[in-house]
Amino acid sequence: MKKISVAVSGAYGRMGQEVCRAVLDEENMELVGVFDLQGQGENIGKIIGETKLDIVITGLTKEALQEIKPMVLVDFTTPMAVMDNIKTALQSGVRPVVGTTGITSVDLSRITEWVEKSGLSAIVAPNFALGAVLMMKFAAEAARYFPQVEIIELHHDKKIDAPSGTALKTAEIITSERLKKPAEKDELLKLPGARGATQEGVHIHSVRLSGLVAHQEVIFGGLGQTLTIRHDSLDRSSFMPGVMLAIKNIVNLKGLVYGLENMI
Ligand code: NAP
Repeated sequence: MKKISVAVSGAYGRMGQEVCRAVLDEENMELVGVFDLQGQGENIGKIIGETKLDIVITGLTKEALQEIKPMVLVDFTTPMAVMDNIKTALQSGVRPVVGTTGITSVDLSRITEWVEKSGLSAIVAPNFALGAVLMMKFAAEAARYFPQVEIIELHHDKKIDAPSGTALKTAEIITSERLKKPAEKDELLKLPGARGATQEGVHIHSVRLSGLVAHQEVIFGGLGQTLTIRHDSLDRSSFMPGVMLAIKNIVNLKGLVYGLENMI
C-alpha cells in the first residue's frame, strides 16, 4: 500500500514537532517536508530527537510544495499565516489538514471557495482531541435543558488568540441547540471585561497561564443546580490521534470538513 506523504508547516513549533513525531510513528505515513519561519536550515530530526531523520526546515512556498509533492500539508502555525498556507497548499494540489486556531466564519467561506476551485478537500478542526469533541457534544445536549451557560477556557501563556477556537465553536453549538436565550440584564461592571466576552449571550472567559496546556469548562446553571462539563488536554499528544485520523481520511474526502466531530 502506498504511504501517505505528509508535510508539516509550523514544524518548529510545539504542535508541529509533535505532529512530526506522530507521522514518523505511523506505518502508512511518510514525512516528506517541514516548513517554518523559525529554524530554517536546521534538520528537524535533530530538533525532535530522531537522529536518523534528515529533513531541513525551509519556508513554505508553492515551489517548495511542488518540488516535494506531499499528499497532505498539516498546518499548526499562527492565525496570521494560516490562510496563506491553506491557499498555497490548495493551489499546489496539496490537501490541507489545519489545526491552527483563529479561523473565522468569513475565512471558512473563503476556504470553501478555494477547496471547490481545486477539486480537492480540506479539514479544519479547532480541536483535535477526542475528549474536547465529546465535551462539545455533551454541552450541546445540556444546552437544550439549561439556557444559562458560561465558558471558561484555560491555555498556556504562549497562545496568541483569545478566546480559543474551541470556546467559540462551543458557544456556536450551544447557541444553535438551546431553545431560548436567557434575558439580557444590566450589570454594574466595576472593571471593563469583568464578565468576559460574549458570543450570542454566551459569556466566554479566557485564562492564560504557564503550566497549562488546553482546558475548558462549560458551566450550565439551573434552578438550585449547576452542571459542569470539563475537558483537559494534559499533553499535546492528546491531539495526535485526531490529527492522524484526519490525515488518513482526507485523501478520500471531497470539500471542506469543519470539526473532528464530522469524521468520527
Ligand atoms: P507555536 O509553538 O508558536 O508554533 C507555531 C510555529 O509556526 C512557530 O514556529 C511560527 O513561527 C511558525 N509560523 C508562523 N508563520 C508561519 C508560516 N507562514 N509558515 C510556516 N510556519 C509559520 O504554536 P503552537 O503551540 O504549536 O500552536 C500552533 C497553532 O495550533 C495555534 O494556532 C494553536 O492555537 C493551535 N492548536 C490547535 C490545536 C487543535 O487541536 N486544533 C491544539 C493545540 C494548538 P514564529 O514563531 O516566527 O511565528
